[in-house]
Amino acid sequence: MSQSTSAELHTDPTQFPGVDVYAVAGNPISHSKSPAIHARFAEQSKQKMHYGRLQPEIGEFKAAATSFFAAGGKGMNVTVPFKLDAQAMADALTLRAQLAGAVNTLRMEDGKIFGDNTDGAGLVRDLLAQGIQIQGSRILLLGAGGASRGVLGPLLEQSPQELIIANRSNAKADELVQLFGGLAKSLNVSLRAMTLSALEDAAKAGIFFDLVINATAAGLSNESPISDTVASNIFVPQSFAYDMVYGKVTTFMQQALHRGARVSDGLGMLVEQAADAFLIWRGAKLADAIDSRAVLAELRTS
Ligand code: NDP
Repeated sequence: MSQSTSAELHTDPTQFPGVDVYAVAGNPISHSKSPAIHARFAEQSKQKMHYGRLQPEIGEFKAAATSFFAAGGKGMNVTVPFKLDAQAMADALTLRAQLAGAVNTLRMEDGKIFGDNTDGAGLVRDLLAQGIQIQGSRILLLGAGGASRGVLGPLLEQSPQELIIANRSNAKADELVQLFGGLAKSLNVSLRAMTLSALEDAAKAGIFFDLVINATAAGLSNESPISDTVASNIFVPQSFAYDMVYGKVTTFMQQALHRGARVSDGLGMLVEQAADAFLIWRGAKLADAIDSRAVLAELRTS
């Protein structure tokens, strides 16, 4: 690895005197769009800050984050595979981070590290910005991993009529229904779990959704979590198919397009979760000074 590449993957706050320093930590991290997104937010709102990258070795997140904050780092975004390590090292967690079971945003204040999770709020803001009506809708959430858990609370808070979690293996989806059942009940949302194979049978009997969110990692390997038969039964032209993976038209998105449904990748979620983190660090008063949709449009054309 060349020296310059290694420096790009290790942000040292002491190298930026007089500037507030932030970073995104993940492994791998060189592909991350977060530094570009935060640089644009900083420009738009005239903030003097630096946002770099950190690539701790697996198992060394806590040590890397501790030294980053000890050297003066102000905040950190955290991505795969360190969101659970970030939750474990935080001194205090927001309620949504507790519910999400993971942390994607750390903030240093008065010697304490606060953990938050902005993924769910980011997804909801992106959906609303695309004109998707969540209230009263029927939602199918595919996958029951960290991303699904992170978005469940904010989705339920929008009061859909029904939300079904479908996952390859049963236990994780059931666990999410247990965890979020109370919240769903209090909001009068019907929440249930099924396996992807049970979805095959349910789909044959006729079942369609307003919003289908692919929160599985299947898109990364050019697969869809659902068969073409399921797709042809659950999508109607009024459906909206959202894949959290971004940067390509996934097989899942193609299945929805074949049925005439609208589709989106997850780039808007990435930008919106970053906007939330930026405001957590720099102050909510800057909300009107940043334009996340303009940043998203720039990313799409770059
Ligand atoms: P996890 O590893 O925690 O969970 C992966 C999930 O995908 C599990 O439910 C797993 O099922 C399922 N899965 C994996 N491969 C397949 C497959 N071939 N067919 C069916 N199901 C499959 O990952 P995350 O939840 O953290 O992330 C999921 C995706 O969301 C990733 O692609 C990630 O990049 C994306 N993401 C995007 C964000 C954004 O801002 N746009 C933010 C966060 C995540 P099982 O339980 O049976 O193993």
